[in-house]
Amino acid sequence: MKCIPLIWQGLGLVWHSARSWTMAWALLLLVQGLVPAAQVYLMRITIDILAVGGTRATAETAVRMAGPPVLAIGLLWIFSLVLASLIRWVRAAQTELVQDSIHALIHTKALELDVAFYENAESYDMLHRAKIDALSQPIALLESIGVVLQNSVTLVALAAMIAMYAWWLPLLLIGSALPGLWSVARYVLREHAWRIANTANERRSRYFDSMLTDRTSAAEMRLFDLGEYHMASFRTLRQILRTGRLALVRAEMKSELFAGMIAWGGGIAGMLWLLMRTAHGLAKLGDLVLCYQAFLQGQKLLRSLLESAGRIYRSTLFLENLFLFLSQMPRLVVPVKPTPFPSPLREGIRFERVTFSYPGSTHTALSDFSLTLPVGTSTALVGHNGAGKSTLIKLLCRFYDPREGQIFIDGIAMDRLDPAELRRSVTVLFQEPVRYHSSAADNIAMGDLTAIAERDRIHSAAESAGAAGPIGRLPQGYDTLLGKWFGGAELSVGEWQRVALARAFLRRSPIIALDEPTSAMDSWAEADWLGKFRQLTEGHTSLMITHRFTTAMHANMIHVMADGKITESGTHEQLVAAGGHYAASWRTQMQDLAPNPKP
Ligand code: ADP
Repeated sequence: MKCIPLIWQGLGLVWHSARSWTMAWALLLLVQGLVPAAQVYLMRITIDILAVGGTRATAETAVRMAGPPVLAIGLLWIFSLVLASLIRWVRAAQTELVQDSIHALIHTKALELDVAFYENAESYDMLHRAKIDALSQPIALLESIGVVLQNSVTLVALAAMIAMYAWWLPLLLIGSALPGLWSVARYVLREHAWRIANTANERRSRYFDSMLTDRTSAAEMRLFDLGEYHMASFRTLRQILRTGRLALVRAEMKSELFAGMIAWGGGIAGMLWLLMRTAHGLAKLGDLVLCYQAFLQGQKLLRSLLESAGRIYRSTLFLENLFLFLSQMPRLVVPVKPTPFPSPLREGIRFERVTFSYPGSTHTALSDFSLTLPVGTSTALVGHNGAGKSTLIKLLCRFYDPREGQIFIDGIAMDRLDPAELRRSVTVLFQEPVRYHSSAADNIAMGDLTAIAERDRIHSAAESAGAAGPIGRLPQGYDTLLGKWFGGAELSVGEWQRVALARAFLRRSPIIALDEPTSAMDSWAEADWLGKFRQLTEGHTSLMITHRFTTAMHANMIHVMADGKITESGTHEQLVAAGGHYAASWRTQMQDLAPNPKP
């Protein structure tokens, strides 16, 4: 059974996250487990005293004699209330600590894993399952184990008490509860099988729900009138899920009823036996009450014990998701003794016969691809969509390893460098840069966190990237919160692009890669930006992907890419003169840019 190691792993997690709280919790639970047995015992003493008092002594004496046990029952009652509050407090502290440490584990692992992990739908789902389901499970597991232990303590104490009357009474109590165990186990297994079979439906229903309530889809939902279509899809899925779950609960209800009858039969048999003995003077009234209470409480306890056992099993199934995610390892091999990153760069970067396909894809994104980016020069890559240009940048950051071939930096194979050091030496302006929902200054500082307090550096980066103007127009300037998540100001796509560019300026690493840096800018902004681009790349080794020939023409070298290969190379003038694909596209773009003749 893989349940047991999972339970240990889950408990280990709780133990490491909140050691002293867990010890306090176990102690309190043990004490709480003894309270019901003590209550039943004191009840028996009280009733015996009162029954005897009723026959032999005066009522007054009997009441006086019964005073101490009644007082003890009252105190015990208060004690158990205090205990319950204490346990709630300890558990709250424990839950917070455990959840924080699970978050830390998930976050560390999520950062450690390769970018490739996020490309795969299955692994992405795994991360979400781990995050959603498993967060509360270690504590739920502990709680269920606590209930099992506590109920077991009470049960043993109660069983020992009724065993004084007949050795088989505890067996009758437990035996009559067995069908209940069977019913609970069957329900948990069925429910799990049902959940697995319906995970896709559940996820799909969440998808439709998010389409209806998400900010990013709000505009299209209204424009294309897609609301009813999405609501209908959601309703259909919910109906499938609802029907399935209700069928499960119905089946459970029937078997529970059956199990309850058997437990009831067992209890009645025991009580009848004791009633006969009392009638024959072989047992006292207190014994009858004790046994009745013990049976009543015992069966309730067994029921909750069985339910907790079911919950333990369920928790382990969820915990499996968490531990599966935590056991994922990055695929990129980091060298044990990495070669230091060459500083300063002397030669540049060389892609040598690189062939690459994305994980899980049969399409070859780059095939037998060779390219040199000489140090201190700017290179532009142009080509149609899907030619493999962005892939090149991802390989340059070593988010993936090529299937064949090598990438060299100053003659050092990239896989001999420390990836973290390599990434520190590269600045990339991605096609869709991240919009940090933080202040404008912080958005720029994300390029180099050491500059977070250095306003001068941030301002000059913004100035260089052309972001100072838009930021200056914000209500609190650089301190204005950006993005809608926390009620901040929203920028236009082009303005966000400038802010991201400012990040690149702040970073100042020897290698700069820009993926469509001006795609959201108008031609005036682009012209202004080109001057800044020269300033940014001055003395750096840069690679720029662009659709705009007016941007590409400023690079020292231009390569045209198609289907994962380079098809033309040269300076702008050389390529225009060569009369190939570049020249033809250049002419078309120039015609498009030319003002329309007046009608
Ligand atoms: P470009 O930047 O030239 O438009 P890309 O480098 O983004 O092209 O893509 C090259 C090819 O790789 C395309 O066919 C694209 O469909 C594929 N591709 C890009 N990203 C992924 C990915 N994450 N997983 C699988 N295939 C991808």
